[in-house]
Amino acid sequence: MNGVTVIGLGPMGQAMTSAFLRNGISTTVWNRTAGRADKVVSEGAILAPTVADALAANKLVILSLTDYKAMYDILSNFTHALKGRVLVNLSSDTPEKAREASKWAEVAGAEFLSGGIMVTPSMIGQPGSFTFFSGPKEVFDEQEHLLKIIGATDYRGSDPMLAPLYYQALLDIMFTSMAGIMHAIALMRSGNVSGKTFEPYLLNFLAFMPELVRDLSMAEEADKGTYYGELNNMNMMAAGIDHITHASHDAGINTSLPALIRDIYNKTVALGHGKDGLASIIEVLKKP
Ligand code: NDP
Repeated sequence: MNGVTVIGLGPMGQAMTSAFLRNGISTTVWNRTAGRADKVVSEGAILAPTVADALAANKLVILSLTDYKAMYDILSNFTHALKGRVLVNLSSDTPEKAREASKWAEVAGAEFLSGGIMVTPSMIGQPGSFTFFSGPKEVFDEQEHLLKIIGATDYRGSDPMLAPLYYQALLDIMFTSMAGIMHAIALMRSGNVSGKTFEPYLLNFLAFMPELVRDLSMAEEADKGTYYGELNNMNMMAAGIDHITHASHDAGINTSLPALIRDIYNKTVALGHGKDGLASIIEVLKKP
């Protein structure tokens, strides 16, 4: 009962199981496709024959699944076996799903922590690995000695929506900025400049981004709702993104990404923020 049960053995569940085993923690596993347990079983994991056996083995039950629906698919017929368990769901999904799951677990007599792993499977258990957690503080404190084997823990608060909220916000930055990076590379390649030739400029610019975020007071202005446009007004920015959209069209590459940003900028100007700074686009983004 002092070990860990891991349900879900994709690359992430396997990496977590290996990390627990390396640290001498008794680890019981269950996966819909049993064959995915072969590697971790060869490292010393115990393969539970049924979900009920997996739940009976340990108080701490970690879920590493595609989404929260998979958790219900697996556990709904075993809610009687959840009493007294600590479910830690490290699967990706929306903050609202985490809140619902916390209430569902409570009805079944289980404690619930939500989490968001911020690294790839190969980084699990290594320096630099970190995971957001949220849920009851005393439950987190009780389990932290095991959870920190995955990587550094960052407890964000008692509301179970908080860990997925931080996780989603950081992935939001990753997905949108990666799309911008690839669009820029497509633009360069349309001018016969290779991605590798452009890469140093790309990396230099990315290194400058933190300074830009601070210099333009993006977070602070969003909080205050006042936007100083003396050095970067939206009229100028809207013209700039319009130029990129036209340049993309002329280059024969996809224009949907700059056109989307242009639409957001134009709407911001139409709201009366033409002379305000770039952070004022939050006035458009914060609405449905
Ligand atoms: P995979 O998609 O490879 O694994 C998903 C797991 O979910 C498998 O064990 C799969 O079982 C199980 N599963 C999915 N649907 C169901 C279902 N309906 N019923 C039962 N089991 C189901 O994902 P990863 O291991 O890569 O990731 C796990 C979680 O970690 C995800 O939420 C992901 O977003 C998150 N994450 C992943 C990262 C990564 O780099 N991989 C990085 C950060 C977070 P089966 O084997 O039978 O298909």
